[in-house]
Amino acid sequence: MKMKQIECDPVCGFMIRSHDTDEVKKIATEHAKSVHKMKVSDSDMESKMKTVEMKMM
Ligand SMILES: [Zn+2]
Repeated sequence: MKMKQIECDPVCGFMIRSHDTDEVKKIATEHAKSVHKMKVSDSDMESKMKTVEMKMM
């Protein structure tokens, strides 16, 4: 299963992963805003977003 993932700064350690692209962007944007007081555009989020392959257990 393919999942979308956005990782924050390694110092922060925040990571969001979902199969829902919009959800990943929304939660990561909210995180940047509330924790880092940063305004991040959709295209910034898209450039940070990775696709990861999840192995089913
Ligand atoms: Zn963060």
